[in-house]
Amino acid sequence: MNHFEARAGELHCEDVPLRRIAQQVGTPVYVYSTATLSRHFTVFQGAFAPRAVEVAYAVKANSNLSVLATLARLGAGADTVSQGEILRALKAGVPVGKVVFSGAGKTRAELAFALAAGVGQINVESEPELDALIQIARELGVQPAMAIRVNPDVGAGGHAKISTGKAENKFGVSLGEAVRLYARAAGSGAVRPVALACHVGSQITDLQPLEDAYRTLRVLTEQLRGQGIPVAKLDLGGGLGVPYFNQPAPPPPSALAEAVNRVFEGFDIALTFEPGRVIAANAGVLVSEVIHVHHRPEGRRFLVLDAAMNDLIRPAMYDAYHDIRPVTAAAPDAPLLPYDVVGPICETGDTFTRGRLLPELKARDLVAFMSAGAYGAVMSSEYNTRPLVPEVLVNGAQFAVVRPRPTYEEMLGREPLAPWLELDGASP
Ligand SMILES: *Cc1c(COP(=O)(O)O)cnc(C)c1O
Repeated sequence: MNHFEARAGELHCEDVPLRRIAQQVGTPVYVYSTATLSRHFTVFQGAFAPRAVEVAYAVKANSNLSVLATLARLGAGADTVSQGEILRALKAGVPVGKVVFSGAGKTRAELAFALAAGVGQINVESEPELDALIQIARELGVQPAMAIRVNPDVGAGGHAKISTGKAENKFGVSLGEAVRLYARAAGSGAVRPVALACHVGSQITDLQPLEDAYRTLRVLTEQLRGQGIPVAKLDLGGGLGVPYFNQPAPPPPSALAEAVNRVFEGFDIALTFEPGRVIAANAGVLVSEVIHVHHRPEGRRFLVLDAAMNDLIRPAMYDAYHDIRPVTAAAPDAPLLPYDVVGPICETGDTFTRGRLLPELKARDLVAFMSAGAYGAVMSSEYNTRPLVPEVLVNGAQFAVVRPRPTYEEMLGREPLAPWLELDGASP
């Protein structure tokens, strides 16, 4: 069930010891489990049986091509928020008809690209965007399927920065606007409105706001149908939370399915979901090596890792909690010591956690940040000119580097000097 387990005291991903990956690829390194990704996807999709639902995996959670290809082979669609993500989804083998294009600020170039590519559904988030879509569709002579994203004005999500469904957030249009814009789109003859959409937040652990949002979409659907305007489908977004170990377990997909059934029992509508975190988070870990332990005589004990906020920004950005496990388990009776776990970056924000109780650790030991598969590597950067953290995909007893660590030569080679600054150039 869990594909990150200790065997004989050594933490594995499926059948591969994390230590072996650390030795061969170096640290820090993200490691993903194919079995967990597959399991999460099939459990999510299967939760709604006998209702058949489309699952458009939210690419932004973890957009590595091999992760996308793993999910695409299971039949996943892709919820994308940029031209780059659309290109990734297509390259990974997601059929273009299963690609949804979301986002509060799609550029005209991105819309034109998406229309020319023939993506399955454009989720329109505002009236100016609808104007642009209609115009571009006419110019290209295509009739794209589209949805109107509704902002149902419910509060949900684990942190203010990832709550998206309140009226004050930038996402989607109000209920009244949704009906008006949907009708406008239907009457335009230029686009084909097929769905209403919502996505109210991320790391949602209380299903009530989700159920409220779904009910709102049902009411709007009835309203539109009452006006003789067909609505074939609802896109209910993502948002389901995952256990980060310090919290009560969030509701499983089966509980989400029960909420969905309460709202849509007997209602004739196709459903799409856009889960991201719940598919990827617990399918990945970040493995890091201890550089040293800095123990202040007056008290605090700093565990200085070779991973930093540029590799995993969630603790700094969202106050996120990640379980941290020594890759080699300590003796069961080993005493626990409080550590401030930090990276090497010159910012106090580069602190993963404070006062975390861990068995005694020393330089060269390996630790794993658990539940780091979503919003981890995708948000990494090269801040401090630290090489972009590599990614590894495990499948049973095999593993592959699916994003290599760049060399310094590659990193510096991306930045041509302005011609007037060339050291060996001719003088002006
Ligand atoms: C981020 C996002 C998702 C995925 O959210 P999770 O919390 O990762 O499930 C789905 N749909 C849209 C429109 C998003 O922006």
